[in-house]
Amino acid sequence: MNHPTPEQPAEIVARLRATFRTGRTKPVEWRTAQLGLLRRLLTEKGPDLAAALHADLGKSAAEAHRTEIDFTIREIDHTLDHLADWLRPESAPVPAHLGADASAWTQYDPLGVVLVIAPWNYPAQLLLAPLVGALAAGNAVVAKPSELAPATSAAIARLLPAYLDTDAVAVVEGGVPETTALLAERFDHIFYTGNGTVGRVVMRAAAEHLTPVTLELGGKSPAFVDRDTDLEVVADRLARGKFLNAGQTCVAPDYVLTDPETAAALEPALRGAVEALYGTDPKASGAYGRIVNERHFDRLVGLLDSGRLVVGGDHDRTVKYIAPTVLADVDPASPVMREEIFGPVLPVITVPDLDKAIDFINDRDKPLALYVFSGSEETRARIAAETSSGGLGHGLPLAHLTVSDLPFGGVGESGMGSYHGRYSIETFSHRKAVLSKPLS
Ligand code: NAD
Repeated sequence: MNHPTPEQPAEIVARLRATFRTGRTKPVEWRTAQLGLLRRLLTEKGPDLAAALHADLGKSAAEAHRTEIDFTIREIDHTLDHLADWLRPESAPVPAHLGADASAWTQYDPLGVVLVIAPWNYPAQLLLAPLVGALAAGNAVVAKPSELAPATSAAIARLLPAYLDTDAVAVVEGGVPETTALLAERFDHIFYTGNGTVGRVVMRAAAEHLTPVTLELGGKSPAFVDRDTDLEVVADRLARGKFLNAGQTCVAPDYVLTDPETAAALEPALRGAVEALYGTDPKASGAYGRIVNERHFDRLVGLLDSGRLVVGGDHDRTVKYIAPTVLADVDPASPVMREEIFGPVLPVITVPDLDKAIDFINDRDKPLALYVFSGSEETRARIAAETSSGGLGHGLPLAHLTVSDLPFGGVGESGMGSYHGRYSIETFSHRKAVLSKPLS
Protein backbone atom coordinates (compact mmCIF):
# COMPACT_ATOMS: atom_id res chain seq x y z
CA MET A 1 0.00 0.00 0.00
CA ASN A 2 1.19 3.54 -0.72
CA HIS A 3 0.40 6.17 1.84
CA PRO A 4 0.92 9.81 0.98
CA THR A 5 1.23 10.77 4.66
CA PRO A 6 2.44 8.46 7.42
CA GLU A 7 -0.43 6.52 8.91
CA GLN A 8 -1.38 7.38 12.47
CA PRO A 9 -1.45 4.60 15.07
CA ALA A 10 -5.25 4.64 15.18
CA GLU A 11 -5.43 4.22 11.40
CA ILE A 12 -2.91 1.40 11.41
CA VAL A 13 -4.71 -0.51 14.14
CA ALA A 14 -8.09 0.07 12.44
CA ARG A 15 -6.71 -1.16 9.12
CA LEU A 16 -5.21 -4.30 10.67
CA ARG A 17 -8.36 -4.92 12.68
CA ALA A 18 -10.44 -4.68 9.51
CA THR A 19 -8.20 -7.31 7.92
CA PHE A 20 -8.52 -9.54 10.95
CA ARG A 21 -12.31 -9.18 10.84
CA THR A 22 -12.39 -10.51 7.28
CA GLY A 23 -10.95 -13.76 8.63
CA ARG A 24 -7.98 -13.59 6.29
CA THR A 25 -5.34 -14.32 8.95
CA LYS A 26 -7.12 -17.34 10.37
CA PRO A 27 -6.60 -20.19 7.89
CA VAL A 28 -3.50 -22.17 8.66
CA GLU A 29 -2.47 -21.74 5.00
CA TRP A 30 -2.21 -17.94 5.44
CA ARG A 31 -0.18 -18.39 8.60
CA THR A 32 2.28 -20.85 7.09
CA ALA A 33 2.55 -18.72 3.95
CA GLN A 34 3.53 -15.69 6.06
CA LEU A 35 6.07 -17.75 7.99
CA GLY A 36 7.48 -19.01 4.69
CA LEU A 37 7.80 -15.43 3.44
CA LEU A 38 9.51 -14.35 6.62
CA ARG A 39 11.89 -17.27 6.23
CA ARG A 40 12.60 -16.14 2.67
CA LEU A 41 13.27 -12.60 3.88
CA LEU A 42 15.76 -13.91 6.44
CA THR A 43 17.50 -16.07 3.86
CA GLU A 44 17.59 -13.52 1.04
CA LYS A 45 18.21 -10.43 3.16
CA GLY A 46 20.22 -12.04 5.95
CA PRO A 47 23.33 -10.09 4.85
CA ASP A 48 21.40 -6.78 5.02
CA LEU A 49 20.25 -7.58 8.54
CA ALA A 50 23.74 -8.71 9.56
CA ALA A 51 25.17 -5.42 8.25
CA ALA A 52 22.58 -3.47 10.25
CA LEU A 53 23.38 -5.48 13.39
CA HIS A 54 27.05 -4.75 12.87
CA ALA A 55 26.32 -1.04 12.51
CA ASP A 56 24.20 -0.99 15.69
CA LEU A 57 26.16 -3.31 17.98
CA GLY A 58 29.40 -4.27 16.24
CA LYS A 59 28.10 -7.84 15.97
CA SER A 60 30.21 -10.09 13.77
CA ALA A 61 28.35 -11.65 10.84
CA ALA A 62 28.74 -15.07 12.47
CA GLU A 63 27.18 -13.87 15.73
CA ALA A 64 24.40 -11.99 13.91
CA HIS A 65 23.47 -15.18 12.10
CA ARG A 66 23.79 -17.50 15.06
CA THR A 67 21.93 -15.40 17.63
CA GLU A 68 19.42 -13.51 15.50
CA ILE A 69 18.90 -14.55 11.88
CA ASP A 70 19.41 -18.32 12.03
CA PHE A 71 17.82 -18.38 15.47
CA THR A 72 14.62 -16.96 13.97
CA ILE A 73 14.80 -19.31 10.98
CA ARG A 74 14.97 -22.25 13.40
CA GLU A 75 11.95 -20.90 15.27
CA ILE A 76 10.07 -20.66 11.96
CA ASP A 77 11.04 -24.19 10.91
CA HIS A 78 10.06 -25.65 14.25
CA THR A 79 6.72 -23.86 14.06
CA LEU A 80 6.07 -24.96 10.47
CA ASP A 81 6.87 -28.55 11.45
CA HIS A 82 4.42 -28.64 14.35
CA LEU A 83 1.79 -25.96 13.82
CA ALA A 84 -0.98 -28.26 12.60
CA ASP A 85 -0.41 -30.46 15.62
CA TRP A 86 -0.37 -27.60 18.09
CA LEU A 87 -3.59 -26.16 16.70
CA ARG A 88 -5.51 -29.41 16.91
CA PRO A 89 -8.53 -29.09 19.20
CA GLU A 90 -8.13 -31.08 22.39
CA SER A 91 -11.08 -33.04 23.63
CA ALA A 92 -12.08 -33.01 27.29
CA PRO A 93 -13.99 -35.68 29.21
CA VAL A 94 -17.65 -34.74 29.72
CA PRO A 95 -19.29 -35.30 33.12
CA ALA A 96 -22.09 -37.89 33.22
CA HIS A 97 -24.86 -35.37 34.01
CA LEU A 98 -24.49 -33.91 30.46
CA GLY A 99 -25.30 -37.24 28.85
CA ALA A 100 -23.24 -39.61 26.74
CA ASP A 101 -23.98 -37.70 23.51
CA ALA A 102 -22.32 -34.47 24.72
CA SER A 103 -18.77 -33.67 23.78
CA ALA A 104 -16.33 -31.01 24.88
CA TRP A 105 -13.05 -29.63 23.57
CA THR A 106 -10.72 -26.67 23.56
CA GLN A 107 -9.71 -24.84 20.43
CA TYR A 108 -7.18 -22.07 19.84
CA ASP A 109 -8.66 -18.79 18.63
CA PRO A 110 -6.41 -15.99 17.38
CA LEU A 111 -6.67 -12.90 19.57
CA GLY A 112 -6.85 -10.18 16.90
CA VAL A 113 -4.33 -7.35 16.62
CA VAL A 114 -1.15 -7.85 18.59
CA LEU A 115 1.51 -5.27 19.44
CA VAL A 116 5.13 -6.46 19.70
CA ILE A 117 7.62 -4.00 21.24
CA ALA A 118 11.28 -5.01 21.00
CA PRO A 119 14.52 -3.85 22.66
CA TRP A 120 17.88 -3.03 21.11
CA ASN A 121 20.15 -5.83 22.30
CA TYR A 122 18.96 -8.56 19.92
CA PRO A 123 16.91 -6.12 17.88
CA ALA A 124 16.04 -8.52 15.07
CA GLN A 125 15.48 -11.76 16.99
CA LEU A 126 13.44 -10.17 19.78
CA LEU A 127 11.08 -8.56 17.31
CA LEU A 128 10.87 -11.40 14.80
CA ALA A 129 10.60 -14.43 17.11
CA PRO A 130 7.46 -13.04 18.80
CA LEU A 131 6.20 -12.10 15.32
CA VAL A 132 6.57 -15.74 14.28
CA GLY A 133 4.39 -16.83 17.19
CA ALA A 134 1.80 -14.09 16.69
CA LEU A 135 1.43 -14.89 12.97
CA ALA A 136 1.41 -18.64 13.59
CA ALA A 137 -1.46 -18.08 16.00
CA GLY A 138 -3.38 -16.22 13.26
CA ASN A 139 -3.11 -12.62 14.39
CA ALA A 140 -2.47 -9.30 12.70
CA VAL A 141 0.64 -7.65 14.15
CA VAL A 142 2.05 -4.20 14.76
CA ALA A 143 5.81 -4.55 15.19
CA LYS A 144 7.72 -1.80 17.01
CA PRO A 145 11.50 -2.19 16.76
CA SER A 146 13.85 -0.38 19.15
CA GLU A 147 14.96 3.11 18.20
CA LEU A 148 18.25 2.40 19.99
CA ALA A 149 19.23 -0.01 17.22
CA PRO A 150 18.39 2.40 14.37
CA ALA A 151 20.02 0.51 11.49
CA THR A 152 18.20 -2.72 12.36
CA SER A 153 14.95 -0.82 12.93
CA ALA A 154 15.24 0.81 9.48
CA ALA A 155 16.11 -2.52 7.81
CA ILE A 156 13.09 -4.21 9.39
CA ALA A 157 10.79 -1.32 8.46
CA ARG A 158 11.97 -1.62 4.86
CA LEU A 159 12.01 -5.41 4.57
CA LEU A 160 8.92 -6.67 6.41
CA PRO A 161 6.45 -4.81 4.14
CA ALA A 162 8.35 -6.04 1.10
CA TYR A 163 7.73 -9.68 2.05
CA LEU A 164 4.72 -9.97 4.35
CA ASP A 165 1.00 -9.22 3.97
CA THR A 166 0.95 -5.45 4.61
CA ASP A 167 -2.76 -5.49 5.44
CA ALA A 168 -1.97 -7.69 8.43
CA VAL A 169 1.57 -6.73 9.45
CA ALA A 170 2.73 -3.16 10.06
CA VAL A 171 6.03 -1.81 11.33
CA VAL A 172 6.01 1.38 13.39
CA GLU A 173 9.42 2.87 14.05
CA GLY A 174 10.16 5.37 16.78
CA GLY A 175 10.91 5.95 20.43
CA VAL A 176 8.94 7.02 23.47
CA PRO A 177 6.41 9.38 21.75
CA GLU A 178 5.59 6.89 19.00
CA THR A 179 5.31 3.97 21.43
CA THR A 180 3.20 6.04 23.81
CA ALA A 181 0.85 6.87 20.95
CA LEU A 182 0.63 3.20 19.98
CA LEU A 183 -0.06 2.16 23.56
CA ALA A 184 -3.10 4.44 23.67
CA GLU A 185 -4.75 2.15 21.11
CA ARG A 186 -6.63 -0.98 21.97
CA PHE A 187 -4.73 -4.16 21.18
CA ASP A 188 -5.73 -7.73 21.87
CA HIS A 189 -2.33 -8.56 23.29
CA ILE A 190 0.85 -6.61 23.97
CA PHE A 191 4.15 -8.45 23.94
CA TYR A 192 6.89 -6.29 25.44
CA THR A 193 10.59 -7.10 25.80
CA GLY A 194 12.76 -4.64 27.71
CA ASN A 195 13.25 -3.25 31.17
CA GLY A 196 10.88 -3.37 34.13
CA THR A 197 10.35 0.38 34.37
CA VAL A 198 8.91 0.54 30.86
CA GLY A 199 7.22 -2.81 31.50
CA ARG A 200 5.15 -1.03 34.13
CA VAL A 201 4.30 1.76 31.65
CA VAL A 202 3.16 -0.87 29.15
CA MET A 203 1.07 -2.72 31.71
CA ARG A 204 -0.60 0.49 32.91
CA ALA A 205 -1.53 1.43 29.34
CA ALA A 206 -2.78 -2.10 28.68
CA ALA A 207 -4.95 -1.99 31.80
CA GLU A 208 -7.03 0.82 30.22
CA HIS A 209 -8.24 -1.65 27.60
CA LEU A 210 -7.99 -4.82 29.71
CA THR A 211 -5.39 -5.98 27.22
CA PRO A 212 -3.34 -8.98 28.35
CA VAL A 213 0.42 -8.52 28.34
CA THR A 214 3.50 -10.62 28.11
CA LEU A 215 6.46 -8.90 29.75
CA GLU A 216 9.89 -10.28 28.89
CA LEU A 217 12.09 -8.38 31.32
CA GLY A 218 15.58 -8.71 32.73
CA GLY A 219 17.39 -8.60 36.03
CA LYS A 220 20.46 -10.07 37.62
CA SER A 221 20.90 -13.73 36.63
CA PRO A 222 23.29 -15.45 39.07
CA ALA A 223 25.75 -18.23 38.27
CA PHE A 224 26.48 -20.49 41.22
CA VAL A 225 29.83 -22.30 40.97
CA ASP A 226 30.39 -25.28 43.26
CA ARG A 227 33.81 -26.25 44.58
CA ASP A 228 33.77 -29.68 42.94
CA THR A 229 33.75 -28.43 39.34
CA ASP A 230 36.37 -28.34 36.59
CA LEU A 231 37.03 -24.62 36.66
CA GLU A 232 38.57 -24.50 33.20
CA VAL A 233 35.29 -25.75 31.72
CA VAL A 234 33.22 -23.49 33.97
CA ALA A 235 35.30 -20.40 33.12
CA ASP A 236 35.08 -21.09 29.39
CA ARG A 237 31.29 -21.44 29.51
CA LEU A 238 30.84 -18.45 31.80
CA ALA A 239 32.99 -16.26 29.55
CA ARG A 240 31.18 -17.34 26.39
CA GLY A 241 27.79 -16.68 27.98
CA LYS A 242 28.78 -13.43 29.63
CA PHE A 243 30.75 -11.72 26.89
CA LEU A 244 28.55 -12.64 23.93
CA ASN A 245 27.17 -9.39 22.48
CA ALA A 246 29.50 -7.58 24.93
CA GLY A 247 27.39 -8.77 27.84
CA GLN A 248 24.23 -7.14 26.52
CA THR A 249 22.13 -10.30 26.80
CA CYS A 250 19.09 -10.54 29.06
CA VAL A 251 20.03 -14.06 30.20
CA ALA A 252 23.78 -13.43 30.51
CA PRO A 253 25.25 -14.58 33.82
CA ASP A 254 25.16 -11.28 35.72
CA TYR A 255 27.42 -12.33 38.59
CA VAL A 256 29.20 -15.39 39.94
CA LEU A 257 28.35 -16.73 43.36
CA THR A 258 30.89 -19.07 44.92
CA ASP A 259 32.94 -19.83 48.01
CA PRO A 260 36.19 -17.89 48.63
CA GLU A 261 38.54 -20.76 47.72
CA THR A 262 36.79 -21.48 44.44
CA ALA A 263 36.66 -17.76 43.70
CA ALA A 264 40.45 -17.57 43.98
CA ALA A 265 40.93 -20.59 41.74
CA LEU A 266 38.42 -19.23 39.23
CA GLU A 267 40.43 -16.02 38.68
CA PRO A 268 43.22 -17.45 36.50
CA ALA A 269 40.70 -19.71 34.76
CA LEU A 270 38.54 -16.73 33.77
CA ARG A 271 41.60 -14.77 32.68
CA GLY A 272 42.59 -17.71 30.47
CA ALA A 273 39.09 -18.14 29.10
CA VAL A 274 38.82 -14.49 28.04
CA GLU A 275 42.19 -14.66 26.33
CA ALA A 276 41.29 -17.91 24.58
CA LEU A 277 38.09 -16.34 23.25
CA TYR A 278 39.26 -12.86 22.29
CA GLY A 279 43.08 -12.88 22.44
CA THR A 280 45.24 -10.53 24.50
CA ASP A 281 43.63 -7.49 22.83
CA PRO A 282 39.86 -8.07 22.61
CA LYS A 283 39.48 -4.64 21.00
CA ALA A 284 41.17 -6.03 17.91
CA SER A 285 39.06 -9.19 17.88
CA GLY A 286 36.34 -9.23 15.23
CA ALA A 287 34.36 -11.58 17.46
CA TYR A 288 33.85 -9.05 20.23
CA GLY A 289 30.99 -6.51 20.15
CA ARG A 290 30.55 -2.91 21.24
CA ILE A 291 28.32 -1.10 23.75
CA VAL A 292 25.11 0.14 22.18
CA ASN A 293 25.50 3.87 23.00
CA GLU A 294 27.37 6.44 25.10
CA ARG A 295 24.76 6.45 27.85
CA HIS A 296 25.20 2.72 28.51
CA PHE A 297 28.99 3.06 28.03
CA ASP A 298 29.19 5.73 30.75
CA ARG A 299 26.92 3.73 33.06
CA LEU A 300 29.11 0.63 32.66
CA VAL A 301 32.38 2.48 33.13
CA GLY A 302 30.93 3.72 36.42
CA LEU A 303 30.67 0.09 37.58
CA LEU A 304 34.29 -0.83 36.86
CA ASP A 305 35.67 0.20 40.24
CA SER A 306 33.24 -1.94 42.23
CA GLY A 307 35.98 -4.53 42.83
CA ARG A 308 39.53 -5.67 42.15
CA LEU A 309 40.28 -6.13 38.43
CA VAL A 310 41.03 -9.74 37.52
CA VAL A 311 41.04 -9.12 33.79
CA GLY A 312 39.94 -6.30 31.48
CA GLY A 313 38.91 -2.87 32.69
CA ASP A 314 40.21 -0.91 29.73
CA HIS A 315 37.73 1.04 27.64
CA ASP A 316 37.51 3.55 24.80
CA ARG A 317 34.52 5.86 24.55
CA THR A 318 35.20 6.88 20.94
CA VAL A 319 34.37 3.34 19.76
CA LYS A 320 32.17 2.35 22.73
CA TYR A 321 34.56 -0.45 23.64
CA ILE A 322 34.73 -1.97 27.10
CA ALA A 323 37.02 -4.97 27.53
CA PRO A 324 35.66 -8.24 28.88
CA THR A 325 36.09 -7.56 32.57
CA VAL A 326 36.08 -9.71 35.70
CA LEU A 327 35.95 -8.15 39.17
CA ALA A 328 36.87 -9.93 42.41
CA ASP A 329 36.43 -8.97 46.08
CA VAL A 330 33.11 -7.35 45.21
CA ASP A 331 30.97 -6.05 48.03
CA PRO A 332 27.32 -7.11 47.55
CA ALA A 333 26.35 -3.52 48.34
CA SER A 334 28.58 -2.01 45.62
CA PRO A 335 27.09 -0.27 42.54
CA VAL A 336 27.74 -3.25 40.25
CA MET A 337 25.42 -5.36 42.43
CA ARG A 338 22.65 -2.77 42.68
CA GLU A 339 21.40 -2.98 39.06
CA GLU A 340 21.33 -5.38 36.13
CA ILE A 341 24.81 -5.00 34.62
CA PHE A 342 23.87 -5.61 30.96
CA GLY A 343 27.45 -5.23 29.80
CA PRO A 344 30.82 -7.04 29.83
CA VAL A 345 31.50 -6.84 33.58
CA LEU A 346 31.44 -10.03 35.64
CA PRO A 347 31.66 -9.61 39.42
CA VAL A 348 32.53 -12.59 41.58
CA ILE A 349 30.75 -12.60 44.94
CA THR A 350 31.74 -14.97 47.70
CA VAL A 351 29.46 -16.78 50.12
CA PRO A 352 30.56 -19.34 52.73
CA ASP A 353 28.30 -22.19 51.68
CA LEU A 354 25.30 -23.39 49.69
CA ASP A 355 22.74 -22.24 52.27
CA LYS A 356 24.09 -18.71 52.09
CA ALA A 357 24.14 -18.87 48.28
CA ILE A 358 20.47 -19.83 48.24
CA ASP A 359 19.68 -17.04 50.72
CA PHE A 360 21.62 -14.57 48.57
CA ILE A 361 19.50 -15.48 45.54
CA ASN A 362 16.23 -15.47 47.46
CA ASP A 363 16.99 -12.11 49.10
CA ARG A 364 16.87 -10.52 45.64
CA ASP A 365 14.38 -10.23 42.76
CA LYS A 366 13.50 -13.47 41.00
CA PRO A 367 16.01 -13.70 38.14
CA LEU A 368 15.27 -14.37 34.47
CA ALA A 369 17.81 -17.17 34.52
CA LEU A 370 19.80 -19.02 37.15
CA TYR A 371 22.89 -21.05 36.31
CA VAL A 372 24.28 -23.82 38.43
CA PHE A 373 27.69 -25.38 37.91
CA SER A 374 27.83 -28.31 40.27
CA GLY A 375 28.70 -31.98 40.06
CA SER A 376 26.45 -32.71 43.02
CA GLU A 377 22.98 -33.90 42.18
CA GLU A 378 21.85 -32.94 45.65
CA THR A 379 23.09 -29.37 45.26
CA ARG A 380 21.42 -29.03 41.87
CA ALA A 381 18.18 -30.41 43.26
CA ARG A 382 18.27 -28.13 46.29
CA ILE A 383 18.80 -25.00 44.21
CA ALA A 384 16.07 -26.05 41.77
CA ALA A 385 13.62 -26.65 44.63
CA GLU A 386 14.53 -23.71 46.86
CA THR A 387 14.80 -20.85 44.36
CA SER A 388 12.54 -19.33 41.72
CA SER A 389 13.74 -18.08 38.32
CA GLY A 390 12.41 -17.77 34.78
CA GLY A 391 14.73 -20.52 33.58
CA LEU A 392 17.37 -22.76 35.10
CA GLY A 393 20.58 -23.84 33.39
CA HIS A 394 22.80 -26.63 34.64
CA GLY A 395 26.35 -26.30 33.37
CA LEU A 396 25.62 -24.05 30.37
CA PRO A 397 24.43 -20.44 30.33
CA LEU A 398 22.01 -19.06 27.72
CA ALA A 399 21.39 -22.36 25.97
CA HIS A 400 17.98 -23.09 27.49
CA LEU A 401 16.43 -20.38 25.34
CA THR A 402 17.56 -22.15 22.18
CA VAL A 403 15.41 -25.18 23.02
CA SER A 404 12.25 -24.48 21.03
CA ASP A 405 10.18 -26.86 23.13
CA LEU A 406 10.92 -24.96 26.34
CA PRO A 407 8.93 -21.87 27.35
CA PHE A 408 11.08 -18.74 27.54
CA GLY A 409 10.03 -16.10 30.03
CA GLY A 410 10.51 -14.60 33.46
CA VAL A 411 8.83 -14.70 36.84
CA GLY A 412 8.26 -11.86 39.28
CA GLU A 413 10.49 -8.88 38.44
CA SER A 414 11.92 -10.76 35.43
CA GLY A 415 8.57 -10.83 33.69
CA MET A 416 5.32 -12.63 33.09
CA GLY A 417 4.22 -15.02 30.37
CA SER A 418 6.43 -16.93 27.99
CA TYR A 419 6.94 -17.82 24.34
CA HIS A 420 8.86 -19.90 21.78
CA GLY A 421 7.41 -22.84 19.90
CA ARG A 422 4.07 -24.05 21.15
CA TYR A 423 4.22 -21.62 24.08
CA SER A 424 3.92 -18.79 21.56
CA ILE A 425 0.65 -20.33 20.38
CA GLU A 426 -0.55 -20.36 24.00
CA THR A 427 0.48 -16.73 24.41
CA PHE A 428 -1.00 -15.37 21.21
CA SER A 429 -4.26 -17.37 21.23
CA HIS A 430 -7.34 -17.68 23.35
CA ARG A 431 -7.99 -21.25 24.37
CA LYS A 432 -11.73 -21.42 23.83
CA ALA A 433 -13.80 -23.92 25.78
CA VAL A 434 -16.53 -25.58 23.69
CA LEU A 435 -19.35 -27.83 24.85
CA SER A 436 -21.57 -29.45 22.25
CA LYS A 437 -24.85 -31.26 22.88
CA PRO A 438 -26.96 -32.54 19.97
CA LEU A 439 -30.47 -31.05 19.69
CA SER A 440 -32.08 -34.41 19.30
P1 NAD B 1 14.91 -0.33 24.88
O1 NAD B 1 15.42 0.93 25.49
O2 NAD B 1 15.16 -0.60 23.44
O3 NAD B 1 13.36 -0.38 25.20
C1 NAD B 1 12.56 -1.46 24.79
C2 NAD B 1 11.38 -0.91 24.01
O4 NAD B 1 10.58 -0.09 24.86
C3 NAD B 1 11.78 -0.06 22.82
O5 NAD B 1 11.05 -0.48 21.69
C4 NAD B 1 11.43 1.35 23.25
O6 NAD B 1 11.05 2.16 22.18
C5 NAD B 1 10.28 1.12 24.19
N1 NAD B 1 10.15 2.18 25.19
C6 NAD B 1 11.17 2.80 25.85
N2 NAD B 1 10.68 3.71 26.71
C7 NAD B 1 9.33 3.68 26.59
C8 NAD B 1 8.26 4.38 27.24
N3 NAD B 1 8.48 5.29 28.16
N4 NAD B 1 7.01 4.07 26.87
C9 NAD B 1 6.78 3.11 25.95
N5 NAD B 1 7.75 2.42 25.32
C10 NAD B 1 9.01 2.70 25.63
O7 NAD B 1 15.49 -1.61 25.64
P2 NAD B 1 15.84 -1.77 27.16
O8 NAD B 1 14.64 -1.69 28.00
O9 NAD B 1 17.05 -0.98 27.52
O10 NAD B 1 16.29 -3.31 27.07
C11 NAD B 1 17.13 -3.84 27.99
C12 NAD B 1 16.34 -4.59 29.05
O11 NAD B 1 15.56 -5.57 28.43
C13 NAD B 1 17.21 -5.31 30.03
O12 NAD B 1 16.65 -5.19 31.30
C14 NAD B 1 17.15 -6.74 29.54
O13 NAD B 1 17.41 -7.70 30.53
C15 NAD B 1 15.76 -6.81 29.04
N6 NAD B 1 15.64 -7.86 28.05
C16 NAD B 1 14.83 -8.90 28.30
C17 NAD B 1 14.72 -9.92 27.38
C18 NAD B 1 13.84 -11.10 27.60
O14 NAD B 1 13.62 -11.81 26.64
N7 NAD B 1 13.32 -11.32 28.79
C19 NAD B 1 15.44 -9.84 26.20
C20 NAD B 1 16.24 -8.73 25.97
C21 NAD B 1 16.32 -7.74 26.90
